[in-house]
Amino acid sequence: MSDTYLELANSALGKKLFSAMGLPEPVALVREDPEQPHKLSGQVLLGASLGALFADQIGSSLQDTSMQISDPLVTEKRHLIYDASGIATAEQSTELYEFFHQHIKSLAACGRVIVIGLKPSAAANSEQGAVQRGLHGFIKSLAKEIGRNGSTANLLMVDNGGDTAIEAPLRFLLSGGSAFMNAQILTSSKPVAAMAADWTQPLLGKMLVVTGAARGIGLAIAEVLARDGAIVIGVDVPQAEEELRATMTRLGGLALPLDITSEGAATILRDFCSAQTSSLHGIIHNAGVTRDKMLSRMTDHQWNMLMQVNLGSVQRINTALLETELLDNGGKIVGVASISGIAGNVGQTNYAFSKSAVIGMVETSAQACASRGITINAVAPGFIETQMTAAIPFVTRQMGRRLSSLGQGGLPIDVAEVIGFFVSPQAAGINGNVVRVCGQSILGA
Ligand code: NAD
Repeated sequence: MSDTYLELANSALGKKLFSAMGLPEPVALVREDPEQPHKLSGQVLLGASLGALFADQIGSSLQDTSMQISDPLVTEKRHLIYDASGIATAEQSTELYEFFHQHIKSLAACGRVIVIGLKPSAAANSEQGAVQRGLHGFIKSLAKEIGRNGSTANLLMVDNGGDTAIEAPLRFLLSGGSAFMNAQILTSSKPVAAMAADWTQPLLGKMLVVTGAARGIGLAIAEVLARDGAIVIGVDVPQAEEELRATMTRLGGLALPLDITSEGAATILRDFCSAQTSSLHGIIHNAGVTRDKMLSRMTDHQWNMLMQVNLGSVQRINTALLETELLDNGGKIVGVASISGIAGNVGQTNYAFSKSAVIGMVETSAQACASRGITINAVAPGFIETQMTAAIPFVTRQMGRRLSSLGQGGLPIDVAEVIGFFVSPQAAGINGNVVRVCGQSILGA
């Protein structure tokens, strides 16, 4: 569904009108170029605190890209990367202030601010840990200041051993794929498996399952994974078989019409995958439903049916897959949560429970998955323009769109791109992360 306000705000007449009336003017975001996805270009200014740890990794991450390292003395428009890992005391935080105070005005429209810090638990002592934790507040506030320009600010925290794995998150944060990911904290840990280095087709020849692939966000996920070279097994309810087959034929993938809540569905799905491959690269648990009602009016069917689609089937499928070695040594599991599972929402006790539990699944399984070379992460989308959100009443829909730092809703592809990053072999150090894809919605922030 199109956002007329956003389109008007970016038209020649609309720009004059909105500015004269003092109305918010959200900027049309710059996303991946479909002809050259993952291509990184533009100017980037690098800064670092005294004693910063990751200069070499940052430098080599940018080496094979078309990005130019910018001169601090030139005021051209650019992205800003700052390595804050050396900051260990309150006094030293001045260095962070000075860099951004001096350079934030040179940030490009739809530019990126990326700060790299140490996960507090990896800091040398509690004083440094506390100061590094302060970066959360800094990034979240800066993101609010620059969002109206379509720009984002994100923080990459490096855990022990995670320094070898920062190239993938750095490149993703600089790319058009992260356009709607704002004010997020990613953690880079010791890689759980080998990291390949095909940056243009990272999923070439790899097989992944996407549930709920017939439409909406699931369809966009299937498209992004296929664009990146994957063979997608699309799963959706038998009623959606026609659309599912047409899409999977177009994408060169396979269709599996299956209600994931039906008897034996997890085994059917696992056996279907086993028949195709001995090494499944990943599964994206995207299928989900809402059954909104105030708790006092909610029927037990509305609670139980939703819980089986959004949570029960996800757990059963994971169990069935993990009983085999299909995902071992490089496999990826991705959950699709929601900001409703973080912030809660009126009429969504059932939905928020299920989506909070998806976050719980990531938190409680990450370590066990890592021991088998598997990563598990989740996205928590905010307001995304789909059939689901088109059904929301007009005023609430407008509020859902505007109440974010970027002043607009996201597109299904924004969620799909973050998932594409999670499942890329290069992201083997990204495990146990839950990333909101919400443009920094004020809900639950
Ligand atoms: P959608 O309703 O457009 O698509 C969901 C798909 O899942 C459909 O194709 C549906 O047929 C399939 N599905 C439902 N039950 C199934 C079952 N039992 N077995 C197999 N397939 C089943 O929804 P969407 O907006 O694309 O949402 C996708 C995911 O993103 C969901 O998990 C949703 O909760 C989550 N999400 C969406 C938004 C948003 O703004 N649209 C925000 C936060 C989270």
